[in-house]
Formats: sequence, C-alpha cells, structure tokens
Amino acid sequence: MIVSKSDKKKIIKEIKIFGTKYKISEINFLEKEKGTAINYGETWVCHEKININKVAKGFDHKLATLLHEIFEVINEKLELELEHSNITRFETAVFAVLKENPEFVKLFLK
Ligand SMILES: [Zn+2]
Repeated sequence: MIVSKSDKKKIIKEIKIFGTKYKISEINFLEKEKGTAINYGETWVCHEKININKVAKGFDHKLATLLHEIFEVINEKLELELEHSNITRFETAVFAVLKENPEFVKLFLK
C-alpha cells in the first residue's frame, strides 16, 4: 500500500464545541454485520468523546469524518433534530467549501 504524505498527518487530539472539550481518538471500530455500512466516526456527547475509525482512508477522509461528528454534536446540543442524511450533506458541502477556499479559512486564524 502506498502511503501518501497527507496520510501521515495527525488529526487533532481535542476540539472545543460551545465551550466543551471533546477528546478525539483514532481507533479501530469493531466490524459490523455483513451488509451494513462501515461507521467512520462516532460521537459520545455525554462522554465528550469523538472516535474516528482508523480505517478511514487518508487524512481528508478523517477530516471530513471529524467535521461530520462536529455536526452531530451541534445537532444534539441544539436539538436541531436533523435527519442523518442532512448531517452527511452538511459534511460534504461545508468540507468542499472549506477545501476550495483556503484564503477564507485563514481569516479565522489570528
Ligand atoms: Zn453520523
């Protein structure tokens, strides 16, 4: 397997969402039953934990998964009751906009 440079980049260890720090871990998820989709991320809002599946291919996939889990936290904390498919749509859309606009992303840095 060829490992690109971006695959060696590490995801951050924690993220603050609305003042709460969530610990981020990269773990191997238990295999699900055959025929079910693989979970690339999971969020335990009550335990302030976000897990990213190590099998996620490449850094961008992990980053997109983390973004997805952030939307999961926002959805639960704000009781938005978004359907999961819409959380996934937000993940795809916001990830694309952020990736296509590095100059915009830089504006958030001091
Ligand atoms: Zn999800």
